[in-house]
Amino acid sequence: AKQLGRSNIQYYSPDMRVAAGKRLTLEGKLRHAAENNELVLHYQPKADIKSGRIVGVEALVRWQNPELGMVSPGVFIPIAEESGLIVPIGDWILRTACAQALAWQQAGLHIPVAVNLSAKQFQAPGIAARVRDTLEATGLDPHYLELELTESMSMGNPEKSIDIMQSFKALGITLTIDDFGTGYSNLSYLQRFPLDKLKLDQSFVRDMTHSPEALAISQAVLAVAHSLHLKVVAEGVETLEQLQLLAKSNCEEMQGYYFSRPLPAEDCTRFLSEKRRLSLQ
Ligand code: C2E
Ligand code: CA
Ligand code: CA
Ligand code: CA
Repeated sequence: AKQLGRSNIQYYSPDMRVAAGKRLTLEGKLRHAAENNELVLHYQPKADIKSGRIVGVEALVRWQNPELGMVSPGVFIPIAEESGLIVPIGDWILRTACAQALAWQQAGLHIPVAVNLSAKQFQAPGIAARVRDTLEATGLDPHYLELELTESMSMGNPEKSIDIMQSFKALGITLTIDDFGTGYSNLSYLQRFPLDKLKLDQSFVRDMTHSPEALAISQAVLAVAHSLHLKVVAEGVETLEQLQLLAKSNCEEMQGYYFSRPLPAEDCTRFLSEKRRLSLQ
């Protein structure tokens, strides 16, 4: 019998069949997740680093499946992207987050909500019109919506990306680049894109207190952002030491377990009404 080549052995390895099978199972279940009410949004507060005032929340999706249990977005968002399911799921996320922001406003809590937009969603035809329609349908003032985009989503066709971003800006939406410093960091596009904020990736925040390199990169990111009149949001802030270092470096906003994990809507409502301003130390 012929010997199998290296690539054949790899291709037929049971591990991979399990992985591929598991992926299909997840995709199949994910297809019905929204209609079965298995998706829910949690909200993580963001605060002004100097005053401690709550300045917004980020919506983060959760998937609770009866058979699979809690599936992390780090696992199912990539599957949703590759299968195209991110488009209907993303519409649901946007609609739900806008409706929640409006409900908070009606309760006297005027808090902008940030929604993550995946690359596939951003590139899907008619994204600007869909976002506009969702805002109109929910009745949320666009100034209370922030969209978090990633660096990679706009690299393919920068001119088209600029067009889409400009139509978001024309509506009054705040635009933020997420995970800054982890992608194909290309500084030149920063000044061409109509951005408002930049999120310093949590890997830099995590390492800044013990790695001089991470601190140097963080401070360089802050300097570039400020020279372009962008505000900086630090994510993944877990300790007072990180908070103080960021404050000293003139970072404007922060988000992280130090003051709150992402919370279910009702818990977040309580958090927002009790702690309009945090005591940070
Ligand atoms: P991301 O947008 O960078 O979100 C930040 C992640 O860091 C969230 O993980 C959040 O729970 C976590 N985090 C917040 N504070 C801390 C902290 O102090 N320490 C640490 N270690 N982690 C912290 P999560 O919710 O598991 O989401 C993971 C990723 O999945 C997100 O990264 C985003 O890329 C994606 N994702 C989540 N929700 C959505 C969504 O609604 N739409 C899209 N397109 N992607 C989403
Ligand atoms: Ca984000
Ligand atoms: Ca991020
Ligand atoms: Ca991230």
